[in-house]
Amino acid sequence: MPTENIRTYDVIVIGAGPVGENVADRTAAAGLSTVIVESELAGGECSYWACDPSKALLRPALFRADAAHVPGLDPAVKGPLDVAAVLAHRDRMASHWKDDGQVEWIKSVGIDLLRGHGRLAGEREVTVETPDGDVVRLHARHAVAVCTGSRAALPPLPGMDQLRPWTSREATSAHQPPGRLVIVGAGVVGVEMATAWQALGSQVTLLAREDGLLPRMEPFAGELVTERLREAGAEVRFGVSVVEAKRADGEGTGEIRIWLSDGSELTADEILFATGRAPRSEDIGLDTVGLEPGNWLTVDDTLTVTAAPGEWLYAVGDVNRRALFTHQGKYQARVAGSVIAARARGERLDTGRWGLHSSTADLEAVPGVVVTDPPVASVGLTAQEAERLGRDVEVVDYEIGHVVGAVQYRPDYQGKARILVDRERQVVVGATFVGPGVDELLYSATVAITGEVPVERLWHAVPAFPTISEVWLRLLETRRDA
Ligand SMILES: Cc1cc2nc3c(=O)[nH]c(=O)nc-3n(C[C@H](O)[C@H](O)[C@H](O)COP(=O)(O)OP(=O)(O)OC[C@H]3O[C@@H](n4cnc5c(N)ncnc54)[C@H](O)[C@@H]3O)c2cc1C
Repeated sequence: MPTENIRTYDVIVIGAGPVGENVADRTAAAGLSTVIVESELAGGECSYWACDPSKALLRPALFRADAAHVPGLDPAVKGPLDVAAVLAHRDRMASHWKDDGQVEWIKSVGIDLLRGHGRLAGEREVTVETPDGDVVRLHARHAVAVCTGSRAALPPLPGMDQLRPWTSREATSAHQPPGRLVIVGAGVVGVEMATAWQALGSQVTLLAREDGLLPRMEPFAGELVTERLREAGAEVRFGVSVVEAKRADGEGTGEIRIWLSDGSELTADEILFATGRAPRSEDIGLDTVGLEPGNWLTVDDTLTVTAAPGEWLYAVGDVNRRALFTHQGKYQARVAGSVIAARARGERLDTGRWGLHSSTADLEAVPGVVVTDPPVASVGLTAQEAERLGRDVEVVDYEIGHVVGAVQYRPDYQGKARILVDRERQVVVGATFVGPGVDELLYSATVAITGEVPVERLWHAVPAFPTISEVWLRLLETRRDA
């Protein structure tokens, strides 16, 4: 027989992904009693089915691709990856899908963890259905933060249940490489998983409905990644989408037949739909506070849900759709935590452009790395976005392979850098780097953008020789000589 009890906290956080954990950490550190509700594993998508396992699968592939071109090292890395060792490493990075370490941390910082499915039940009220069938009612004195994240969005094709396709979850947790893997989607998840599984021995076919990979990034990034994927043996096809897909045996196992929009057919052992994300908001009681279930939750820069009056409801991380990255969600969590604490103390908020209580970097300087061969690192605007927004920018390009540090890194270095300089303000507003080892360059660009460093001042930020970061100097010289 289910029992019912009521508990009161200052703050209730629904979802113990990286974002919920950080909101709770901030509010608990500010002295507010905080409970976090989790229906699966504390640590969220990132720890078990996204960032950590995907990068564990990818790093060996990228290191091998680079090492295979370093004189003296190349013979040592000939031959295939040790698939069992890579998968074992991935399992460790995913903590073997157990959250003991996270639970220990949650307890150690004074947050209460309640396992179960959380739902809003009116203003400042949450009910939690626990795994043993009990219902716990929670009341929040100050705030409820919805941090329920996102899930893979599947296209509305007939027979999906019978098809049992891979989503990002299966693609990051599979225990053996499928023989033939068809990947649908040209975005980050599609290209990363194509890179990983091709390197691990699958025959990958990557299908893009657009005419290039990574369509939201500078086009040269997708072009280089396409070239490398093809060199690695993957088939990459543009301008096609899946019309229908069926398992041969009708039991959710066996070979898959796939019919494409250009009239051609494919067969595969697994099919991964990397076709976008949807908010996990359809069963969290949004209707009890006048909101539409299943929608992304729109927030202002303080992460307060704009359609819920009273400044008590927050939506942080993927579920608000501002920037679907762990680091960006954690940044929002730091802002949300300090907003909740300031409001609880009756303090005035500092919501200035770069204020403590303002999540403005979400709009101006979102850094992201695509872990492919070669990696792509970008922050701020692309040239296409600048044009769409009517921003007057100077586009400066440089071949990274002309930098000595790059050739030291890999003698056949191929890569490109682009910065966008706002003509009126004379500051960098966008940067994209593609090439081996560029991921660690990204923070310099992020600082240049958020710090609004005048480009003339950048001449005094001297990059060390011989490193790839000398590309900054070359970009400034290219601009001066233009
Ligand atoms: C394949 C892949 C690779 C990625 N790689 C990277 C990367 O390298 N770097 C990066 O920055 N980002 C990466 N991302 C994005 C990153 O995973 C997300 O941005 C991040 O996980 C969002 O964190 P979150 O806390 O908002 O949501 P989530 O991590 O999704 O966590 C939400 C939590 O809420 C819980 N929950 C949901 N509903 C309820 C409920 N009703 N009651 C209780 N609990 C609930 C869920 O169980 C989950 O634990 C990747 C994504 C994918 C799919």
